[in-house]
Amino acid sequence: MMQLTNYRGRHVVVLGLARSGVAAAKLFHDAGADVVVNDKKERDQCPEADELAALGISVVCGHHPDGLVTEKTALLVKNPGIPYSAPPIVEALRLGVEVVSEVEVAGQLSPAPIVGITGSNGKTTTTTLTGVLLEEAGLKPLVAGNIGRPLSEAALEVEPDGWLVAELSSFQLKGTADFRPRIACLLNVAETHLDYHGSMEDYVGSKAKLFENQTADDVAVYNEDDETCRRLSASFKGRAFPFSVTRTLEAGVMIDPPYSAVRPSDDDSDAADDEAERWIVSRDGNGAERRILRVDELGIPGRHNAANALAAIAIALAAGADPERLAEPLRAFRGVEHRLEYVGSFGGVKFYNDSKATNPMATTMSILSLPSPLILIAGGLDRGSDYMELLPIFRDRVKGLAALGETREKLARVAGLAGLTDVKIVEPVEDAELTLRRAVQEAAAMAGPGDIVLLSPACASWDMFPSYEVRGRIFKQSAHTL
Ligand code: ADP
Repeated sequence: MMQLTNYRGRHVVVLGLARSGVAAAKLFHDAGADVVVNDKKERDQCPEADELAALGISVVCGHHPDGLVTEKTALLVKNPGIPYSAPPIVEALRLGVEVVSEVEVAGQLSPAPIVGITGSNGKTTTTTLTGVLLEEAGLKPLVAGNIGRPLSEAALEVEPDGWLVAELSSFQLKGTADFRPRIACLLNVAETHLDYHGSMEDYVGSKAKLFENQTADDVAVYNEDDETCRRLSASFKGRAFPFSVTRTLEAGVMIDPPYSAVRPSDDDSDAADDEAERWIVSRDGNGAERRILRVDELGIPGRHNAANALAAIAIALAAGADPERLAEPLRAFRGVEHRLEYVGSFGGVKFYNDSKATNPMATTMSILSLPSPLILIAGGLDRGSDYMELLPIFRDRVKGLAALGETREKLARVAGLAGLTDVKIVEPVEDAELTLRRAVQEAAAMAGPGDIVLLSPACASWDMFPSYEVRGRIFKQSAHTL
């Protein structure tokens, strides 16, 4: 474990306020370190600064001051979102100062073993469900990380005989060095966050760091259906415990009978009578097989959510949960807000809020989970993709599109190429809320009784809204007040 006392009297820089920065600053301050917190935002946009200043921690806002990092600096803890090109980080690396994310600090502090969950999509759903399963099994989990609560804060609270269950982003993982989860889980890898990582290689490399420090005593849960996960699994040092919705595995968690690997997108293969035959099964590799529950009993819809459930089951089993105690919480779990969330039926049209779908893979999976053809509201922050991967799903499962945000023209183009005729480009008005309301009205106008309107943007929200949560809530209000 990290000896915080080693930092007593030494200079520690925390770059970036926000919750993880505040947690790290307090931690090192309490340990007697000489902490300086720096954020580029102006002081009046840093509500956390006053709290830290009141504790006697020095806080510099508005710019990166010269001399922030010197050869005397013992450690730089960076906010995961700050790029490695930021001047203080460049300087720290030049001087040989250790640069880590708050997750690394948490990993070193936690007295409990860690479950680390990452992937391009499904992290929050799987992490939340894992927490539920471990709780039900009496394994005393504490859920934190990318999901809201800073991991280092939770690391100070978790009981030594419990589990620290961490949702981890690629940004957080990039800033780790010795982080070693007892159970690591990689859900899938899609092309996303390339603006931050620069290349797919860097992005995949960050995800792979989750497994880097594992040993034979640890467990590596991964998605056997995902090509990148499979490729990475060749170098896992922990015990591989895969999951798959399309393959029968010797050891792992799977579906029996499995889904076909290539899913015909115009075929409703998730029809209830078909699902009723399928079981979720775990195999230990020594011939022992256990049926957990039927796929159609899961409380969350769609094949992607079945994959998330398999991952959570694999983690729970690896952590020592009694398989008998898994079925009930799996039936009861209804998912997390903004993830394929049913909003209601208005004028005979069903509305779903999937605001958290911030890349094309997530949107594709969600569209596949609902009856088709549906009416889609999509668009948001432009990260440089051309969105052509959405063409087949637009062609086969979407009948109308209301496109908004920076990517509206690009998405409308793909929809046009896919042969859609009901395509509305919603031009921005000053108030982003009004723009989204208009998109909802346009989508509702395209819909008839029995239709589905789905907000699943395939893009981040930051071109228009402070967060996907705000976007999702405005969508829900707009649907309610059509
Ligand atoms: P994350 O935390 O990784 O963003 P979430 O659990 O919040 O993932 O789900 C976000 C969105 O990603 C969902 O609304 C859904 O559209 C999609 N999604 C969830 N799980 C998967 C999965 N296993 N594969 C592909 N897409 C998924």
